[in-house]
Amino acid sequence: MKLLHPYLPGSRESEQRETLAFLEQLKDNTNYTIEHIKTIDELDYETAIKYHWNQGEPFIILEQDNVPTLEILDSIRNCSEPICAANYILNMKDRKNVVSQYMSNRIITAGNATLIKAIKYVTNEEYADLYGFGLVKITPFGRYPFMPSNWRDMDSRLSIYTSKYGYKAHIHGTIKHNHAK
Ligand SMILES: [Zn+2]
Repeated sequence: MKLLHPYLPGSRESEQRETLAFLEQLKDNTNYTIEHIKTIDELDYETAIKYHWNQGEPFIILEQDNVPTLEILDSIRNCSEPICAANYILNMKDRKNVVSQYMSNRIITAGNATLIKAIKYVTNEEYADLYGFGLVKITPFGRYPFMPSNWRDMDSRLSIYTSKYGYKAHIHGTIKHNHAK
């Protein structure tokens, strides 16, 4: 399965080290085709996601500072659910905030519609309507629904979209997130 690794080169290197080491170990595992995606321009991340979504095949995203276990990664790949994700702690300084449901106080908009104002933290759920992209498997349906824009709310927009069509994320444990702040 295709494994997309979006990262910003030359930034937060200490936070990326463990993820890179994990991918290095995974390189010879033929069950995964690793694709490194440089996200330099703000549109780069979503442009890549749009491209892979429109290929019509399931893909996995592992963001630059998340560290799964091989067991969790394999369980997500092998799962028959269309969307699977792992919990991760959003902010290492605030360890109680384990997220499968992606949460934010931002106002999220898609098109002209304001969809949601605030999403609560939810833990230990088997399925999540809203999810972050730390580690996620997505099975695309239809054409990609958005114009690439700000990566900061991409996961919120897309998870709202998939949940609108009845696709919840199946949660596979909790992974390490080396995001310092
Ligand atoms: Zn699953």
